Amino acid sequence: MQITFWGVRGSYPVPGAATVRYGGQTSCVEVRSASGECLIVDAGTGMRALGNKLLREATAPQNHHVLLSHVHWDHIQGLPFFSPAYIAGTKISIYALLTAADELQQVIGGITRQEFFPMSLEAVPATFDFHEVAPGVGIDIGPFQVMPIALNHPFGSVGYRIDCDGSSWAYVSDTAPFDRVLHKQHFLPGPEELSEDDKTSLGDMRDALIRGLKGVDTVIYDTHFLPEEYERFPHYGHSTPDQALDVCEAAHCRRLVLYHHAPSHTDDQMDKVAADYLELGAKRGIEVLTSFEGMTLPIGPAPAEAS
Ligand SMILES: [Zn+2]
Ligand SMILES: [Zn+2]
Repeated sequence: MQITFWGVRGSYPVPGAATVRYGGQTSCVEVRSASGECLIVDAGTGMRALGNKLLREATAPQNHHVLLSHVHWDHIQGLPFFSPAYIAGTKISIYALLTAADELQQVIGGITRQEFFPMSLEAVPATFDFHEVAPGVGIDIGPFQVMPIALNHPFGSVGYRIDCDGSSWAYVSDTAPFDRVLHKQHFLPGPEELSEDDKTSLGDMRDALIRGLKGVDTVIYDTHFLPEEYERFPHYGHSTPDQALDVCEAAHCRRLVLYHHAPSHTDDQMDKVAADYLELGAKRGIEVLTSFEGMTLPIGPAPAEAS
């Protein structure tokens, strides 16, 4: 199995001279099995270039499977620009957590309403189907075994552990650490004001994430903030590389990939983040890589001690 990053940025796209090397497109990762089957995780603006590549490679209309972490703009905005959707005979299956809307179809249909986009979802030549995922309930998609994991983000999001070809990796974005409740509503009290029930449910959520990541080779994690930025915006629903390292260490993961970079972080800042956390991770026995647009990573076998 291997993964390729088509968008690594959080919140909104940031094209321009300051983001040329790490890239300015938002969240989208392509997964390939050894037999060449494809899965797409998140549909941010990086999905547009991925769609063009898939279309160039295809000899006939394909079935595409798209796992969404949640439906914030930076995770769905590439979908209307996914060129295979405009080829008759194409089938696109969307998997997501039901969050703010009654039906997933309403959300995806909503972004292509005539006020926002010239072609409605019903008019698009491809056929769409929608699947609601639930944390802890595994699904099989072709050769991929997919396990959704609940994350702590405003109105909820899910991470995915993906096993295939005897190896596994996990996509953990978007999430805050587990010291304040974000997944039920947007703005809640800080850690000092948490009820006992809240503390228990947050602890359970973190435990379930760590259990879900056990034995995983590579973890892609929402590390939007540096520690000093996190202090100012703890309610935004994102983590720091240090918080991601804590989770990966507890789950005995071999490799952490920093992801969902803040749009304000320039290439020069990202170089420093990459170098600093490569060193900090090495001290804790974890290889820390920093994702950039176009990066392809082979996923290794599970570490022997965790299997
Ligand atoms: Zn995001
Ligand atoms: Zn989000």
